[in-house]
Amino acid sequence: MSGGFARPRTVEEAVEALADEDALPIAGGVAVALLTNLGLVSGRRLVALGGIPGLRGVVRGADGATLELGAATPHARLAEDRTLIDELPVAAGMFGHIGNVRVRNWGTVGGNLALAEPAQDPPVLLSALGAEVVIERSGGSRQLPVAELGDGPMSTVLEPGELITRVVVPVLAADERSAYLKFLPVTADDYATVSAAVRLRVDGAGDDAVITQARIVCGAVGPVPVDCTVAAELLVGRAIGDEERYAGVADAVATAVSPKSDHRGDAGYKREMAGVMVRRAVDRALASGTVSGGAR
Ligand SMILES: Cc1cc2nc3c(=O)[nH]c(=O)nc-3n(C[C@H](O)[C@H](O)[C@H](O)COP(=O)(O)OP(=O)(O)OC[C@H]3O[C@@H](n4cnc5c(N)ncnc54)[C@H](O)[C@@H]3O)c2cc1C
Repeated sequence: MSGGFARPRTVEEAVEALADEDALPIAGGVAVALLTNLGLVSGRRLVALGGIPGLRGVVRGADGATLELGAATPHARLAEDRTLIDELPVAAGMFGHIGNVRVRNWGTVGGNLALAEPAQDPPVLLSALGAEVVIERSGGSRQLPVAELGDGPMSTVLEPGELITRVVVPVLAADERSAYLKFLPVTADDYATVSAAVRLRVDGAGDDAVITQARIVCGAVGPVPVDCTVAAELLVGRAIGDEERYAGVADAVATAVSPKSDHRGDAGYKREMAGVMVRRAVDRALASGTVSGGAR
């Protein structure tokens, strides 16, 4: 059993420390503490990410079209970040509605994505927005879409020794709209029973405006966030004022998702609610630009 604790001050030092096969990154520690208490993590050399300035905060990408979120930035700090609020309020709003105050103050975006719990919020919205993670390891780095990071419940394609350093999120163009909603029938700080994120491109104004691109991702209704491509394609070409704009969408969502029955609801109920939440999210996005929040 190796154990121990490392406090790197730079990304390079962290990557070096993580090259040890017993090493495990710890960011907010929200999940690591729970897993340790359950006996599922033991004998690991913990590499603390909280003291690395380069892993915290929000900066504008060099291309001007993206924002880069430091992987060890707590959800609460992202929710209050002025740049994120101004440029991508849908994301700031989503981070501000994660769990409870304690979870938001300690939990980080990188820890959240690496944990890959199927009912979490950031993987769903960040997938819909086309965000990517930057991953560093000893001797190299790679970048991959958030949508490709999770490969099952509590499982990712991250290799041992790899560290998520940044999340690169495209900002919305002037003709794009986005919304994220989660259904919380139990308590306001619960994990989502069903969640839906949409990103739309709209051409024109008023009721005649037409949806020209759509992406729909649902959460908590499959082992990983579910990309509802068929449902999204049904929206493309529809005018905002078209009363038939949702024809077939709920059925297509219900076909795409694969929820499990649990204490939050049975599978059939969640399947139906996924279609309802998608419709509400599209309505919200079209009505008010970029919004995020809970729904009860
Ligand atoms: C009661 C409760 C309610 C919650 N509710 C919600 C909710 O409603 N919505 C939601 O989205 N989430 C929710 N969460 C999860 C929470 O948001 C945290 O994000 C999550 O627990 C992990 O974040 P962390 O920074 O504490 O990660 P840690 O516990 O530090 O790490 C988690 C895992 O990720 C790895 N890791 C951490 N950082 C990195 C990195 N940069 N690169 C690679 N691997 C890394 C660790 O090794 C570990 O395996 C909830 C958690 C709890 C306990």
